[in-house]
Order: sequence, then C-alpha cells, then structure tokens
Amino acid sequence: MKYVSTRGGGEEVSFETACLAGLAPDGGLYTPVSYPQIAPPSAGESYLSIASRVLGAFAGDTISPDTMATLVERAYGSFAHQSVTPLFQVGPDRWLLELHHGPTLAFKDVAMQIIAQIYDHFLTQRGERLTVLCATSGDTGGAAAAAFAGLTSVDVFILHPFGRISPIQRRFMTSTGADNIHNFALDGDFDDSQAIVKSLFRDEAFRNEVRLSGVNSINWTRIAAQSVYFAAAQSALGTDRNLRFVVPTGNFGDALAAYVAARCGLLNGLELVSAVNANRTMVDLFAEGQLKKRSAIATHSPAMDIALPSNAERLLYEVMGRDAAKLKAFYDGFGQSGEAELDAQAKGALSCSGIRALSIDDTETAAEMKRLFAETGTLQCPHTAVASAGARAYPTQSVDVILSTAHAAKFPETVEEIIGELPLLPKRSEAFLQRDEVFERLPNDLFAVREAIQQRIKAS
Ligand SMILES: *Cc1c(COP(=O)(O)O)cnc(C)c1O
Repeated sequence: MKYVSTRGGGEEVSFETACLAGLAPDGGLYTPVSYPQIAPPSAGESYLSIASRVLGAFAGDTISPDTMATLVERAYGSFAHQSVTPLFQVGPDRWLLELHHGPTLAFKDVAMQIIAQIYDHFLTQRGERLTVLCATSGDTGGAAAAAFAGLTSVDVFILHPFGRISPIQRRFMTSTGADNIHNFALDGDFDDSQAIVKSLFRDEAFRNEVRLSGVNSINWTRIAAQSVYFAAAQSALGTDRNLRFVVPTGNFGDALAAYVAARCGLLNGLELVSAVNANRTMVDLFAEGQLKKRSAIATHSPAMDIALPSNAERLLYEVMGRDAAKLKAFYDGFGQSGEAELDAQAKGALSCSGIRALSIDDTETAAEMKRLFAETGTLQCPHTAVASAGARAYPTQSVDVILSTAHAAKFPETVEEIIGELPLLPKRSEAFLQRDEVFERLPNDLFAVREAIQQRIKAS
C-alpha cells in the first residue's frame, strides 16, 4: 500500500513514511494510491478484530498482522466500554454512535490512542525520536497528550487558541504531568493555530531540524482509524441494512473517514450528512461548488469552529478525478484570492458523492439538546446535538446513525446554561482536575512559536 500527496509533489511513500510525516512535504495530504478492498465485518466481529484488519490493510507490509493486533489491543484497553464505540438507541431506527469512551471523553481518542502506539512501534524499531506538532480546536490536543504522555520516542507540542476552549478540554492537555507534552496557548483562533502549524511544516530547515510530524486529521492514520467505527456500526446494526451516518463536522476528518470506509467496501453504500455549525464553509462547497475564505465564528460547539476544513482537500482530490495538478491550481487560486470555484465536472462528482452538508445554528443546537434530554433523559454535548438536529432536518428511509463525538461533561458550562443541569464527569477523569496545569502563552506569530519549540527541544 503506497501513498501520494494530493498536490502531486514528491514520490509515492510507504504507510510508515506517510504516518510519521503527517502533512506531505509539498503541503498536500497523503492519500492511498488506491483504496484497498477490505472484507466487510461479519456479524458479531469484535471492534479489535475489525480495527486490526482495517488498519492492517492500510499499513500493508510495514506492520505484521500480529503486531497490529497487539498495538490495537494496547490502544483500546484504555477505553471504558468493551465495544469501544457502543451504540445507544434514541428512537425507532435512530442510534447514537458513542465515540467518547476514551480517556479524554471525545472521539479524537479513538484515532489518537492507536496512532501513538503505531508511532512508538516504528520509532522504537528505528531507534529514533521525533517531534509531533498539532493545532487543536479543543479535543485533538487532549487526546494527543493522553495518548503520547510518557512515550520516550516522541515530544508533543500542542497549540490551542487562548481562552477559546473549555477549561476541561484545556486540563486534559495541560495536566498530564508528562514532560514530553508541551502546551502553547496562542493569542488567536483555531485557524491561526492551524495556519502556523501548516507554515512550520512547509519550513524544510525547521522540519528537518526538529524532525517534525503531525497528528492532526491531516495524518492519514487518523482517517484510517476512524473508518473502523463506521464498519463496526454496520456490523452491529446488520450487514444488509442501509445506514445513514450524520457526522458533526469541523475539519471534515470524521466525515471523510465514512467516505473512505465506503470506498473500501466496508459499508452498504454511502449516505452521509455532514452537519456543521454556523461555520458554513462545507455548505457553500456542496451547494455552490465554492470555497471561500472566512473567519471562524465562535459557537456552542467549539471543536467545530473551523473556517477552512483541511480534509475537504481529500474529498476534492477525489471529485477532481485525482488530478493533483488541478487540485493544486484550485488551492493556489484560493490562497491568492481567498476564493476558488470547482469546475462543472467536479461539481457534478461532488453532488453524486452520497454526501450532503447542512448548517445548524446555536438556537437549533440548544433546542436539540433540550429535546434529547426530554426524550431520552440523557445530557448530550452540543456537537452531538448539531448532528442530531441535522438528522431531523433531513428525514431518511435508512437506519440513522448519529455520531456522538464528546461526553457532555466535557462542555459543562454550555450544557448547564442550556439544560440547567451540570453533567457529571466520569470518575476515571477526575484525576485531571487535581493536577496543576502547565502551559505557555504565545503571541499569534510564526517565529515566536518556532523559537519556543527550538528552545524546548534543545533543553530536553
Ligand atoms: C473534532 C471534533 C468534531 C469535528 O470532527 P472533524 O473530524 O474535525 O470534522 C466534532 N465533535 C467533537 C466533539 C470534536 O472534538
């Protein structure tokens, strides 16, 4: 299994290279040269078995099946539920796919726990150490901190937008107590953090000096790991049934993983709703074929406050018929003028993709949280509510599977304000509240971040 950059630069690389690099050197995203055809899960196949097979197919000959099974077991041992991603029924043919049973109570754990194991495996084998750099809108950072804490092969640097994430989200990354986890609070929004991370990856001298790697959803391994729970849901609800997945969307990583699962033959076709909050970039892309530069708007669902969803690039690569030159021209144009439009062929392919996007505002999100509380007696996080409201907006004949991406207790302020009840943090997470937080505040400036990383690496 080989990987290429969506922007066409460089050569084909192995899974190991694509995984450890994160972003491709030309600024594109690694994607498999072709989608492996994977046997769909049989009824009752365990999560660990599905994960080993799916990740094994993407890893090709870089990781043996036995080793992959061991890494998967280590990764998902930290989950509080045996099925890893259990389904919770909320209505006739309506289910929540709960992705928040990992150590930091959000779906980012599902991919990050296994990425950390895979990194450690490759690096220990090579006798090497590298630097992981990531920008977080709230949940990725905590998941990375929890997954990599204490691993000797990796230093992790996490940039979060100062004051724009919930205190619990912040604590999950700043209170690990591990000295290989470094936190920077940036004076800017998530897109500023993401832009700095992207610039640092493009800086070849810096990239080589600190041996840079990325675990944002730009990393293919994230997408591969997330495709597993779509397959697991198909297996659990009936391999012959048609499912509709409704995905709360920020960077479009989770939604893309459903697309990938379908392309690999793991689903009965693809029916997907990508539900965004007031940050409407994906809606414009689907409705008008236009990508427009915007500023992020703060909402009740902060992990989705993203103006430029990076994984849209992987879908656009597909709808352009994998024409890397065309994709590069599209993004170069966007970079210059802040706007780009798909041609008729790509617009047509996008409208036939089985994916549609819609936007749910804060008022609708709050109403949906109240409705879910009244109907099911459960407190749901605002991100999950965006998807649930999206599902109601477009009825379907299929079995509806709504992704529940975080535990309500991760957003206690918002949940209490809307419902009037404070969600309780699971016992296993309480340790994070006791420990001291460690982070450094930095200006929204590329060079300040670059220098801070260099200094820390020299000191370690
Ligand atoms: C990251 C995140 C999302 C958005 O997922 P993407 O893959 O970025 O689209 C949704 N909900 C929660 C709770 C998240 O942490």
